[in-house]
Amino acid sequence: MGYAEVSVNSPVAQRRTFSYAIPSGLSVDVGQAVWVPFGDKLLQGIVLALTDYPAVEETREIAGVIEPHPILSPSQVLLARWIGEHYLSPLFDAVALMLPPGFERRAVTFIGSTPGEYDVSSLTPEQRYALELVQSQGKVTLGKLEKALGKKRAQTIVSQLVGRGLAGRSYEVEPIKVRPKTVPYLHLAVTADEAQQEAARLHEKRAIKQAALLDFLAQQPEAAPLAEVRQRVNCDKAVADALVNKGLVTVQQIEVRREPISYQGITPSYPLALTTAQKMAFESIKSSLLQVAKGHTSSAVFLLHGVTGSGKTEIYLQALAEAVKLGKRGIVLVPEIALTPQTIERFASRFPHRVAVLHSKLSLGEQFDEWQRISNGEFDVVIGSRSAIFAPQPDLGLIVIDEEHEWTYKQQDKSPRYHTRDVAIKLAELTGAVVILGSATPDVETFYHAQKGDYSLLQLPERVTPGEGSLPRVEVVDLRDELKAGNRSIFSRSLSEAIAKAVVNREQVILFLNRRGGATFVQCRNCGFVLRCRRCEVTLTHHLTEDVLVCHQCNYTMPVPQICPRCLSRRIKFLGIGTQKLEQEASFTFPQANLLRWDRDVTKRRYSHDKILSKFRAHEADILIGTQMIAKGLDLPLVTLVGVVSADTGLNLPDFRAGERTFQLLSQVAGRAGRGILGGQVIIQTYSPEHYAIQAAAKHDYALFYDREITYRRRLHNPPFTRLVSLVYTHTNDALCQREAERMKRQLLKEIDSKGIADLSVIGPAPAFIHRLRGRFRWQLILRGSELSAFLCQIPIPRDWTVDIDPVGLV
Ligand code: ADP
Ligand code: ZN
Ligand code: ZN
Repeated sequence: MGYAEVSVNSPVAQRRTFSYAIPSGLSVDVGQAVWVPFGDKLLQGIVLALTDYPAVEETREIAGVIEPHPILSPSQVLLARWIGEHYLSPLFDAVALMLPPGFERRAVTFIGSTPGEYDVSSLTPEQRYALELVQSQGKVTLGKLEKALGKKRAQTIVSQLVGRGLAGRSYEVEPIKVRPKTVPYLHLAVTADEAQQEAARLHEKRAIKQAALLDFLAQQPEAAPLAEVRQRVNCDKAVADALVNKGLVTVQQIEVRREPISYQGITPSYPLALTTAQKMAFESIKSSLLQVAKGHTSSAVFLLHGVTGSGKTEIYLQALAEAVKLGKRGIVLVPEIALTPQTIERFASRFPHRVAVLHSKLSLGEQFDEWQRISNGEFDVVIGSRSAIFAPQPDLGLIVIDEEHEWTYKQQDKSPRYHTRDVAIKLAELTGAVVILGSATPDVETFYHAQKGDYSLLQLPERVTPGEGSLPRVEVVDLRDELKAGNRSIFSRSLSEAIAKAVVNREQVILFLNRRGGATFVQCRNCGFVLRCRRCEVTLTHHLTEDVLVCHQCNYTMPVPQICPRCLSRRIKFLGIGTQKLEQEASFTFPQANLLRWDRDVTKRRYSHDKILSKFRAHEADILIGTQMIAKGLDLPLVTLVGVVSADTGLNLPDFRAGERTFQLLSQVAGRAGRGILGGQVIIQTYSPEHYAIQAAAKHDYALFYDREITYRRRLHNPPFTRLVSLVYTHTNDALCQREAERMKRQLLKEIDSKGIADLSVIGPAPAFIHRLRGRFRWQLILRGSELSAFLCQIPIPRDWTVDIDPVGLV
């Protein structure tokens, strides 16, 4: 008899597998999903290994297989184990990353009759009733019997029948309900001739749009999708509605097969002739792809370091084409799907109908379909945000991580707290693939590895755009000087003049401020009381449009008090600025300009990312005001001025990555200016103009930043010269929280001491930067050393602790 080591979907299972016997007649493979008995339940599990001997004496049998074929590939099984070990996560959490969407559904138990003779008189009336029900339908769900007999009775009776060999249990997963997708189509309700006559009449009556739409439809051989019509005729839905009301047009919902990307308006693109710098980079990647395909090396990692507009994406595209030529496929990771429509379009037009896009906007059923199609090998390229690294892409040859420095690549909010970059490099090692990490401002740790030779460094120092190829001029404005000169406005004199000039010249402006809302805190002028969230203790932000106070930590909302809760004074003052306030100030200062705001408040309520972006591209606004969302890879040729209203928002956080974060953000924002032939200018306002992160960003000088940063890191013994783990304990009782953190520290120290580990140290405990979140207190310990996972995996850590290996931020 064979045995299987199974990762079981139960919180009790934690980081281990369980041994199960494989019943005779059942064929089971590594990576296969199975039902296993666990306590008194039947749970899902994934087979991670097959063995001749069980790890324990007593084993139970696998109850059945869930899917006939393995779900995880052998490399994925190894990857899941690595994730579990490295990030100290429950094993099934790691395995679950690779399961099809919606896989963790309930098991439905079916009861079926078994053939054979039996003596009816030996059965109780209830048993007879149940058996007849089962026999009449072949099999029924346990739920149905429970309805008929009551939950407890049904279970007892089924056990009795199964025990006597009269019935058997089988298990199936709940089916996913896939709703068919329909799209509205416009149909002429009159003949084409009549439509044209009517169009002429509408035209005379100055209903130009309606006339145009009707005319367009009259020329179509058949019904046309509303979305396409609106685009072609450039009209609103209201125009179509008007024609419907006049009885000239009807709308029909037609079922369509969903394409992962709308290829509408996307024309195929062809490889560009590479510049010299691009060519050198591309040739290195190409030869690596070949070496790996031949099996000469196992994997390779490239860091493609190039400023925005230096042609990195073109290299990704050509490298992917090369991989496809070698019979391989690729995965492309982007920080956030919703923010990168232009990038996705470029992949879609280079690989028409061969690109899958994974994003959370798809319904569960659609995601499931997409997963199946990827698994069937229907796509050359899979694009998605971090979880797309777990897509079942067969013949993986190339993994691209665009904007590799972005923090969204780290899963921070739930287990496993993995970093996509590290997972991708591991996966490449396991499958034999090439990894390209691309960035204009690489993560300091990535660059360090590239310098050391762990990764190959490829550099594209210049923009490819012909003509105005240079990077925008950057001016740093010292806000202290503005105050001295008596300027109390949000806008420095420089910025204000530049905005006015750009608007007059019909050029576009981006104003960046990394804070949402209006006033960022609300204070009583009389007693100094500051309004804070009762559950998180952070200051409440005033939101102008809704006129409420909002906690940016937990979203708690309250009306603006008329009087101070402490001293009852009416002198409530709003201080600090967020994007809403900036919008208001800008509209006072530049009344002739059209404004558009882009932050989470807007995208949640009014417009989607796409809509805001296309409005701005169509020059429906002169000034775009936004948070870090606008810093992403957008190509906006009419933007000639970018103003950073305050560069200091992130600079003073108690985190060793604060400087890096500021540099990356400023560099990205600055990269938005001057992408067209008009050239560009950036103005950064700050109270710390001498800070190296601001200086380096202003000079577009990564090397300057890196040299300073790596020196600090070495001196202060921070990553990449060591590794960190953040351990956070949460509890509603602050004192208890502190005591537990202190206890944990003592335990860790004792363990370090008894093992004689020299390079491990414990920092803290201290209240976490966000000391209170949603009514729970948080205390933090930081562990510094090299072999952290190996050390920690031997220490029992209670469940209320959050363990984050290689955290991207400490606040
Ligand atoms: P990045 O990804 O580094 O921001 P892109 O690949 O988007 O750079 O290139 C910037 C612009 O230059 C794009 O419009 C792209 O089409 C164009 N481009 C890239 N490579 C070439 C090339 N070899 N010849 C001409 N244009 C190019
Ligand atoms: Zn007061
Ligand atoms: Zn709160």
